Amino acid sequence: ASFFVCSEASEVWEVLPSQPKKKQKIPIQPRFQLKRRKQRGFGILRKSVFFCMDLKLHPLKKINIAIDGYSACGKSTTAKRVAQQLGFTYIDSGAKNRAVSLYLEENQIPFGSDSPGVKQALADIYIEQKLYPTELGTHTYLNGEDVESKLRTQGISQIVSQVSTLKSVREEMVAQQQRMGKNKGVVMDGRDIGTVVFPNADLKVFMIADLKIRAVRRQNEFAQRGM
Ligand code: C5P
Repeated sequence: ASFFVCSEASEVWEVLPSQPKKKQKIPIQPRFQLKRRKQRGFGILRKSVFFCMDLKLHPLKKINIAIDGYSACGKSTTAKRVAQQLGFTYIDSGAKNRAVSLYLEENQIPFGSDSPGVKQALADIYIEQKLYPTELGTHTYLNGEDVESKLRTQGISQIVSQVSTLKSVREEMVAQQQRMGKNKGVVMDGRDIGTVVFPNADLKVFMIADLKIRAVRRQNEFAQRGM
């Protein structure tokens, strides 16, 4: 079975998948409940998070939630659901990196190194993310154009990891995310959200999942994109 562990300096949470529906052999969509782990030396229960997740109530206090973890564990699916349930903003950091990659590709700007071209591109790019209440997740806009359908192509997937390791891109993305989190009430997922972007997030979640489930999730993602 899949399982997720949430941890923070002052507390440890265990996120257990709730019972899958009978017909669903593998719980591909993460369904979860939070349970405080009985471990000595770990402090206060964040009741607001616990209750709003459990009873679907809005928390009294807005907090930032950082979701890290391995690929294909369901980080973004979980982040979107949590944001929707809590009435928080979901920030899709992967999509931001993808939007930068799309811009570099469309404008034929070489991204092999942190070149002046890349730095200029970052100055010319304006990325917005808008939430549509009828849909799960956000739409990403690149200089005013809704580019959501262009971001998940194989071409972009192939270059995004290289683009997102460039120092200038990383710095810009981290700065943008930190700005968005200043007023609290955001849920973000990504590989270094809890360590670099929001090391002081009110709640940090590290997601792990059974290898089989990760493989099935990735396979389904590819199938959905017609690959
Ligand atoms: O989550 P998604 O697959 O859309 O992310 C695309 C890529 O962006 C990742 O493969 C990773 O290389 C990069 N990324 C990152 N930091 C994040 C989120 C994504 O470097 N916080």
